[in-house]
Amino acid sequence: MNGSGNAKHPHYPPKMDTRQEKKISKRMIAVKTPTLSLRQTLTIPFVVQVAVAVGVTGWLAFQNGQQAIDQLVRAIAKDTADHAEEYIKNFAETPYQFLRINGAGISGGYIDPTNQTELADYFFRQVQITDAVPYLYFGNSQGDFTGVWRRNDDLTTLQIRRPETAPQRETYELDDAGKPADLLSSKDYDPRERPWYKAAISTKQPIWSPIYVFAADDVLGITHSASVYDGSETLLGVLSVDLTLEGISQFLQQLDVGESGQVFVIERSGELVASSTSEPPFTTTDEGMQRLHTRQSNEDLIRFAAQRLLTQYASFDQIDTNKSLKFKIDGHLHFLQVNRLQDGRGLDWLIVTVIPERDFMAQIYANTRNTLLLMLLSLIGAIAIGLYTSRWIARPVKRLAKSAQSMSRGNLDQQVPAGAIAELNILGQTFNSMAAQLKMEFANLEQRVRERTLSLEERTAELKTAKDQADAANRAKSLFLANMSHELRTPLNGILGCAQILERSPSLADDVQDQVNIIHQCGTHLLDMINDVLDLSKIEAGKLDLSPKALHLSSFLQSVVQVCRVRAKQRGLGFDYQVKSALPEGVYLDEQRFRQVLFNLLGNAIKFTDQGTVTLRASATPVEDNPQISRLRFMVEDTGIGIAAEDIGKLFDAFERVGDRQRYVEGTGLGLAISQTIVEMMGSTIQVQSELGQGSQFSVEIVVPLASEGDIPSASTLDYAIIGYEGERRRLLVVDDRQNNRGVLINLLKPLGFELVAVEDGQKALGQLQHQSFDGVITDLAMPVMDGYELLKHIRQSATLSQQKVIASSASVSLSDRQLALDAGADDFLPKPIQVSELLEMLAQQLGLEWTYNAGAFPTAPKESTPEEEAPEWTLPPLETLRSLLDAGDAGNLRSVRYQLEALIDNNPEFGDFGRSLLALIKQLKLDEIKTILNRAIQNQDDRR
Ligand code: ADP
Repeated sequence: MNGSGNAKHPHYPPKMDTRQEKKISKRMIAVKTPTLSLRQTLTIPFVVQVAVAVGVTGWLAFQNGQQAIDQLVRAIAKDTADHAEEYIKNFAETPYQFLRINGAGISGGYIDPTNQTELADYFFRQVQITDAVPYLYFGNSQGDFTGVWRRNDDLTTLQIRRPETAPQRETYELDDAGKPADLLSSKDYDPRERPWYKAAISTKQPIWSPIYVFAADDVLGITHSASVYDGSETLLGVLSVDLTLEGISQFLQQLDVGESGQVFVIERSGELVASSTSEPPFTTTDEGMQRLHTRQSNEDLIRFAAQRLLTQYASFDQIDTNKSLKFKIDGHLHFLQVNRLQDGRGLDWLIVTVIPERDFMAQIYANTRNTLLLMLLSLIGAIAIGLYTSRWIARPVKRLAKSAQSMSRGNLDQQVPAGAIAELNILGQTFNSMAAQLKMEFANLEQRVRERTLSLEERTAELKTAKDQADAANRAKSLFLANMSHELRTPLNGILGCAQILERSPSLADDVQDQVNIIHQCGTHLLDMINDVLDLSKIEAGKLDLSPKALHLSSFLQSVVQVCRVRAKQRGLGFDYQVKSALPEGVYLDEQRFRQVLFNLLGNAIKFTDQGTVTLRASATPVEDNPQISRLRFMVEDTGIGIAAEDIGKLFDAFERVGDRQRYVEGTGLGLAISQTIVEMMGSTIQVQSELGQGSQFSVEIVVPLASEGDIPSASTLDYAIIGYEGERRRLLVVDDRQNNRGVLINLLKPLGFELVAVEDGQKALGQLQHQSFDGVITDLAMPVMDGYELLKHIRQSATLSQQKVIASSASVSLSDRQLALDAGADDFLPKPIQVSELLEMLAQQLGLEWTYNAGAFPTAPKESTPEEEAPEWTLPPLETLRSLLDAGDAGNLRSVRYQLEALIDNNPEFGDFGRSLLALIKQLKLDEIKTILNRAIQNQDDRR
């Protein structure tokens, strides 16, 4: 073990630079929810808990205090009212008792009311007894009146009307012994006229007078009277007591009803009787002294309380029970207690107590303030304790975290120091031992890594060499394939070109024509194989691309069918082309690649069938809710050798060939692999059904976009029928370093009426172009002296030649080669070996040519075909017959066409020439030509109508 591993190899464990660390911690912050420090975690709950506890307690205390106050104030209000009620009842009872006692004395004959001096003395003694009876008097039916009035402590007077002084009533001041002293006044007075006298007599019951104002003393007074009878119910007189109500107010004022509470007594009319306020219960107006109504009171409490009662009851008369109420003045709660006061002798008052709650709330508010203060202190205390505790706990934890962090950065020598908390100490020790262990492990690891690194470096070097070699080999292979392809194409251009020129020659003998055909086919086969190998290398390099273009579908299929029909015929096989449903006119498709697929499938069918028929079925179905696309289905069916079920899986592997080895002669085993790749790129797969010995079915279903009408190229021309073009002669310059390539083009184009000049390099071509004007240039790309690219550059940069039409032609046919040529300024690209049809189509497009066709515009049939001059002389059958023939032809049913023609010749000898000409074509299986002839004939007949 290497104890100082870290020091020696600072990268174990790997250290992070600060930027990295920041990045990581930033990322952590970004994904994590906000974190709290340990101190916050410990302090916050603690503080919250204390705050909540104190808060809740304070709130409860406040609530309870308020409830208690509520009850207390209610009780005080009630007590006060009760107290006042008792007092007033007593206050009313005393004069009553005096009336009863004196009444009883007079009725029983113990007091002689006619002895006015004695009666006065008696009354004098009685008014000394109690303040409740200040003025006691008696009047009889003769008009005699005796009364003693203790006005205050210093003055007691006698009011007396004797028979001898009547109608005068005299008022004497009484001395301390009750003896009349000075006469103070005298005036007319008749007790029988007074209300107290009349009321007592009419009710025969003790009765209270209405309250009145004592004018002399400015106080309210009331009189209690009772009529007195003798044993025989004879009226002896009326006994009365006058008393002031001031005493009630004084009593009320001394009651304790909080700081600002009030008690007042009212009559049912709402007029004040007495109150605890300093306001007198009457007012002085111009008309004299008037009783004060609650609504006129200057005391807010009295006014509001009365109002409150009147909102509860319609009038004071309706208050028939004692009642407690609560109401608010300016938002402050007030308690109201109303007590009824009735003595059964006509006294019917209301005692009202009003106490503002706030008088008692001061204490509660003080308590609450104290609670809040206490709470604040507790909080501060809690925070302080929390902070202290958390610091005490957090400090060792922080130390631990710092040590752990330091360890994670690679400092494994770090030791976590011991602290005061046992659990944290255990954790610290665990960290220490973990660090020691890690240090050991890292040292081991480091050793192993060092050993491995050495062997890995060696191995990497080896692998790199191997990879370089493989890359080099691959490059060499690609280069080789491209070169080979180019090299093989160049001579093939000559062979195929010559074969095509010869095929177009009408003067060739049959056997020579056949041999030329064989040359053409073998050349084409060779070209196919080269193309296959090239395609495979493209597939392997992932460079196979599709370039879909608008194409005329039925003429495209016709051209494929045409070629395969000939091949089938050569192998003595029937070839049937059936169009199941109307095909769209134009579709977007990579024509070259899809032709390759069809050729491969049809080629295999023909190759692996010895007898019977090869059938191509084509159909199209519209794709639901998209009128822009169509689903095309092609099925190639043969009656050939079939494929064993176990081989079907291998069919699409490259270089895989199955079944009878005898048949391996033709082909590379690449066709199906390439076709499958192409079809897969088109979004589908090739399906196979086969039975050994019975035949096979290969089908392809692809979905393709429909081409708009303007994009669809005209139906492909029957190039071999072209014999020239409309308008003036055109001059072409052929540039190619190889004699036979130049020859092929010259021999192909000269017979069509072109004027041709051929040169072997770009330099010479430029010379020619300066010398005379050309309608078009067809140039090779790879040439000595000046190559095609250089030539194009000069042409495009020249002031006079920049518009010159130039077609580049090369045996390097990859997409990139084509693109390079177009980028260099070529108008189009013609691959070598040259296909006549392609060359003619390109020329027509670039030079705006209209081709002229062989005699009467019928396609030239091979040798056996109808001689040109005979065509116009045919007698054409009726339109219906022609249409019926064309229908059978369109359906690909050659047999039906043949039967119809034979019947036509037999029944109508005048159409014999026409019929026989077509029969000859049927024997060569030239269905397309037959259809062309039929179409023309129908058009002729139509024109004639
Ligand atoms: P090639 O035809 O060049 O050998 P392909 O990839 O086109 O290569 O075909 C692979 C093999 O599949 C053929 O060699 C043949 O054994 C088998 N095969 C293809 N098509 C048919 C067919 N229609 N009938 C019988 N065998 C077929």
